[in-house]
Amino acid sequence: MKHSSHIENPDVVLIGSGVMSAHLGVLLKCLDPALRIQVYEVTDELAQESSHGWNNAGTGHAGICELSYTPFQRPDGSVDVSKAIEIFEQFERSLQFWGFAVGEGMVGAPREFINPVPHISFVHGEKQVDFLQARHRGLADHHFFQAMEFSTDRAKIGSWAPLLVEGRGEGPVAATKMDGGTDVNFGDISRKLLGWLARQDGCGIASRHRVVDLDQTADGWDVRVRNLETGAVRTNRTHFVFVGAGGGSLPLLQKSGIAESKGLGGFPIGGQWLVCDDPRIVARHKAKVYGQALDTAPTMAVPHLDRRILDGRDTLLFGPFATWTTKFLHREGRVTDLFLSVKPDNLATLVKIGVGNLDLVRYLVQQGTQSMADRMEVLHVFYPAADAKDWKLVDAGIRVQAIKKTDGEAGIVHYGTEVITNAQRTISALLGASPGASVCVSIVLEILKNCFPRLVGTPTGQARLRQMIPTCDVDIKLPENAAFFAETHRRAALNLGLVA
Ligand SMILES: Cc1cc2nc3c(=O)[nH]c(=O)nc-3n(C[C@H](O)[C@H](O)[C@H](O)COP(=O)(O)OP(=O)(O)OC[C@H]3O[C@@H](n4cnc5c(N)ncnc54)[C@H](O)[C@@H]3O)c2cc1C
Repeated sequence: MKHSSHIENPDVVLIGSGVMSAHLGVLLKCLDPALRIQVYEVTDELAQESSHGWNNAGTGHAGICELSYTPFQRPDGSVDVSKAIEIFEQFERSLQFWGFAVGEGMVGAPREFINPVPHISFVHGEKQVDFLQARHRGLADHHFFQAMEFSTDRAKIGSWAPLLVEGRGEGPVAATKMDGGTDVNFGDISRKLLGWLARQDGCGIASRHRVVDLDQTADGWDVRVRNLETGAVRTNRTHFVFVGAGGGSLPLLQKSGIAESKGLGGFPIGGQWLVCDDPRIVARHKAKVYGQALDTAPTMAVPHLDRRILDGRDTLLFGPFATWTTKFLHREGRVTDLFLSVKPDNLATLVKIGVGNLDLVRYLVQQGTQSMADRMEVLHVFYPAADAKDWKLVDAGIRVQAIKKTDGEAGIVHYGTEVITNAQRTISALLGASPGASVCVSIVLEILKNCFPRLVGTPTGQARLRQMIPTCDVDIKLPENAAFFAETHRRAALNLGLVA
């Protein structure tokens, strides 16, 4: 559905209609109903890029099953679980906000965008089994993860996820399982929230509109936008711009010319899934199962076998597999995107990345040249009895990994998300993809605190925030707040239909 409403000189312009813009727009409007907000989106329909259900794994990242959030085993054998605890806390804020949105009738039935699914970690081989046991010891000590179970018993693991053990050869295996994990359709929740925003006074959404330039003014920005139907370019003046353009954020940030954009680069990595729709197989896997990263794979490429609910149907996804691309956006990207993003201020960083990350380069070469048989070999690590005839390959989204200067000398590939804000706090942009959509509410809270202190820094603003996200200013990681966490979590889970 095309959207074509325009607000002249709005207070806020949101570029892109993905999960980040959708949440920022709605939280802003809830905090200040008088705010005038304009969304621009280059595609026809909303949230068709990374946030679209088929373009990401839909994992509500809460640190339960993703081994990449607990990579360090200490010399004494214990595992550092602090990152997993932090992600859980961040995801909890998203759950609470969605629970509020359902309760207020803003987004319709929760089943359409969030479903409960157990989160499982699965490993094989003695070393990995030891690691998983140590990880479980570390996590189960914390009130977030008390319900997590650990087992090395094949019959038990088979009762959690039969496909993992069927046809498996000898050798030690282990798994952890926790109910309370989620599968989220981030595209759907984005469209629902934007639908609510579009119905509010003073808000406009224009799709088929590409933001082509950003010029700084005395107290904000002139946003130049091309209407892709007519070719006409118009300028809309605003006080604040959020660049939530996903892969399109880096080029826009570079166009803004702000000092904070200097030296930043981006490197796109395409994704693909193996998909199985056979109801007899799908019915036998009711979990998200994450394993260890393959040898040289970057953390975002850890494979997983997921039960998904997409377009109202149950399906299985396995992957992601990486593909080569020079486009920054799956739908509206151009093959020149990567080359045009190379500037004098980031050239040295990009060259250093290439030379200093040969493992990543080797991984991409290996991934880009693999055959269906190679992909099935990886799937067999999880599902030994899988048959190639039941699986097809489909495209996933593109991640543009943020590349930045760290100390003026070395460049690093940044696998996390990075919020870039100028000194005047009139523009914020989001780069990077992981843990991404799951922690969108925490990212938005950071932007609100930084750029909209008048809305969230007052007692009224704080009270309103607490209504929407009860844990927004409580450290629920602390043992003394365990009861508060349990109560607020139960309420959100009930609203979202995650528990009966
Ligand atoms: C393969 C893969 C798997 C992933 N798995 C997970 C997962 O399991 N869990 C999780 O939490 N996250 C996951 N992510 C990350 C998650 O998808 C992203 O972090 C999140 O969707 C980013 O949302 P966004 O709103 O920033 O960007 P997007 O959803 O990409 O939205 C950006 C929008 O901006 C528009 N746009 C771009 N340029 C312009 C312009 N110039 N003018 C107007 N509009 C423009 C685009 O068309 C697009 O609609 C995954 C990502 C990938 C690629």
